[in-house]
Amino acid sequence: MGNVWMIVADDLSASSVAGVARAFGREVDAFVFGPAARAEQVARCGVSSVTRFDAEAAPAEGFAKDFAHRALEERPAAVVLSDDATARVLAGFVAAELHAPVATSVVSIAFDGEKTTVEQMVAEDAGVQVLEATGPVVCVVADGCPDAEEAAPTAVQEGTLDSFASFGVVSNEAAGAGATGLATAERVVGVGLGIGAKENLAMVDELASALDAAVTCTLPLCDNYHWFEHSSVVGTSTQKISPRLYVACGVSGAPQHLAGVRGAKVIVAINNDPDAPIFRECAYGIVGDVTKVLPSLVEAIENA
Ligand SMILES: Cc1cc2nc3c(=O)[nH]c(=O)nc-3n(C[C@H](O)[C@H](O)[C@H](O)COP(=O)(O)OP(=O)(O)OC[C@H]3O[C@@H](n4cnc5c(N)ncnc54)[C@H](O)[C@@H]3O)c2cc1C
Repeated sequence: MGNVWMIVADDLSASSVAGVARAFGREVDAFVFGPAARAEQVARCGVSSVTRFDAEAAPAEGFAKDFAHRALEERPAAVVLSDDATARVLAGFVAAELHAPVATSVVSIAFDGEKTTVEQMVAEDAGVQVLEATGPVVCVVADGCPDAEEAAPTAVQEGTLDSFASFGVVSNEAAGAGATGLATAERVVGVGLGIGAKENLAMVDELASALDAAVTCTLPLCDNYHWFEHSSVVGTSTQKISPRLYVACGVSGAPQHLAGVRGAKVIVAINNDPDAPIFRECAYGIVGDVTKVLPSLVEAIENA
């Protein structure tokens, strides 16, 4: 049985994935997909090696088979991954090659020399299920696990996978008018069901324009009402963002939504229910009817 592998393709969970991987009790080899800064963050998490793949231009399906083949050769004892689109694809391919069971929403793994015990969140995070397996396991780590202790940095090696060789990027133009700009926005205004009616979205747009912010929404405004494209939703089902400011308008603060915005430096919430969960997560909260608060807020910003 080899080392533990950790695979990270997401900035927010890099350190917590390392924390879970290290708890297994073996050396951890880290594989990072994405920018150099992400690899440097992982390198300070007490891992034995870091290999970075500059995989931004290629969908994970394109290189997953190569990667899984490497797993078959090196036979990691466990593979621990961040919960993002790239890592989930790799989890499937690696598990298939290793004939390993896969667990999602994992909060801890431990190895007693024979069996691996895995704890995973179940019932929308209301309970913990304990699983056991012999042989390698593949675990997708739940959001919000504690970070690994910082350690002296490990050198980052640049990795290559055969399938990357097929394309070279010739140019890379900024996305057009349909793009949400959420990934890079410094300020984001989020809207939830509390906005009440489609015509009230104009107020959200006015706040976004006053703040020079991008707009996001909760899942029901996309899936149930079709007021937004899926690319505008943040949360566990879609994407995670880390702006400097996130203003949540009529958003309850469900865990699936919060997982997408926890990386924000400052969260401001407007909600008419003083007990709404979002108020436990925000730095500043306004209790009030969002349709009344928004025009006053826009006016105050414009007159500031
Ligand atoms: C497997 C799974 C995956 C999911 N993935 C995601 C995801 O990726 N992203 C996501 O967003 N959701 C996701 N969800 C849905 C999530 O669980 C919540 O249902 C959703 O985020 C709630 O959206 P909301 O806050 O707009 O609505 P609600 O929870 O209904 O909240 C509306 C809020 O508006 C407030 N309000 C009402 N009227 C007013 C008013 N006039 N002024 C001010 N406030 C008002 C209410 O007090 C309430 O707090 C997922 C769910 C599941 C089961």
